Amino acid sequence: MNIEQFYPLFLKANKVTIDSRKIGENDIFFAFSGDNFNAATLAEKAIDEGALAVIVEQSEFENKARNIFYVPSTLEFLQQLAIHHRSLLNIPFIGLTGSNGKTTTKELIHAVLSEKFNVQYTSGNLNNHIGVPLTILSIKPEHEMAVIEMGANHQKEIEFLCTISKPDFGYITNFGKAHLEGFGGFEGVIKGKSELYTYLKENHQTIVVNENDPIQVEKTEGYSPTITFGKESADYDFEAFSEDHFVGLIYQGEKAVSKLTGEYNFTNLCAAASLGLHFGISFEKIKHAVEQYTPTNMRSQVVKKENRTLVLDTYNANPSSMTASLNNFITFEGSKTIIIGDMLELGAESEKEHQNILNLAQELKFNEIITVGKYFKAINLSDLAFENTSALIEYLKQHKIHSENILLKGSRGIALERVIEFI
Ligand code: ATP
Ligand code: MG
Repeated sequence: MNIEQFYPLFLKANKVTIDSRKIGENDIFFAFSGDNFNAATLAEKAIDEGALAVIVEQSEFENKARNIFYVPSTLEFLQQLAIHHRSLLNIPFIGLTGSNGKTTTKELIHAVLSEKFNVQYTSGNLNNHIGVPLTILSIKPEHEMAVIEMGANHQKEIEFLCTISKPDFGYITNFGKAHLEGFGGFEGVIKGKSELYTYLKENHQTIVVNENDPIQVEKTEGYSPTITFGKESADYDFEAFSEDHFVGLIYQGEKAVSKLTGEYNFTNLCAAASLGLHFGISFEKIKHAVEQYTPTNMRSQVVKKENRTLVLDTYNANPSSMTASLNNFITFEGSKTIIIGDMLELGAESEKEHQNILNLAQELKFNEIITVGKYFKAINLSDLAFENTSALIEYLKQHKIHSENILLKGSRGIALERVIEFI
């Protein structure tokens, strides 16, 4: 089976999925071979239940009469199909990468642009070599724009994802200390993320630049076209303010306040608003989008629980986002407890980075510092250093946290959200 032959069938499909539990009527199922996975049974079953076609990578299971097609690699076929589909889509594609804030910024851009356009965008965090193709394959003729999150933890990944998504606009949310292990240190992060700039430059596409970020400024110096924000001289100039810890922005005297906490979200908001203004959306409409958007995804979420304020940032953590989070949380009024989980995937920098965060937490003088995970436990000599989330839950069953404000932040692997119901 080749792409051109298959494409007409794809156009008739409802959606493409790689998850056998999510196959619906008229879907195309890509049967990735897992360890103990019987593609034959799944493929036939999917067709029995109404799937339009199944792609398998074991030739013996091919059954063309039933639309079960063999390809040497389902992954490659998925990517090639996405490339083909993308090449036929004549709508603006906005590509995002960066160490922190991609998903938040993607959601905000989607919220803003949806005020005027029918926008398709990355669902959840589907930002890798499988997620990006799936996102592109979910774009239908009625869509007028696409926002694509691209994640990476090593060199050449963004370069590759750009060959699939071919962005017309690109934005790097920030260069931070995330995935240091795979990238080879902070310089490696800058290099890896900048692959987006390389793609945009080579193809004369538009770079969105935060002029407050010296790395972004340096990397895009002398280049055009750009859309800039962050300085008075930029294309769009926003002023920050906050209301009850929620971040807001002011544009030409008009205020919009989001439901996001954390100073860093100001930048995310600016990027979304700049793109909105660029595409002719009035600030009044942008304000509407910004004020409506409610994070529900454990990213900078503020929740009131029995007169206390919980800041839930348990989706992920790395040294940059942890530092930003602590600096934000210290500004909360009243007593403060922080529950911080290990920052994973830091490689050789791990011990030093955990020490830096613990030092910062101590300098900021939070009323109570609770750590979870073995990296923190190795350096935190207090009784409030727990090996894992389960150990903290056992402790919380016996002891109550009395602070008026509680921050929870840690890497995905630590799953700190499990603690919430015990607070
Ligand atoms: P992932 O790599 O998991 O896809 P992401 O880049 O999509 O992460 P988000 O999920 O949007 O990032 O945000 C994760 C956390 O990063 C937030 O909860 C917040 O603590 C922090 N963060 C968000 N925006 C920024 C920013 N612009 N600069 C620094 N930190 C940020
Ligand atoms: Mg993300």
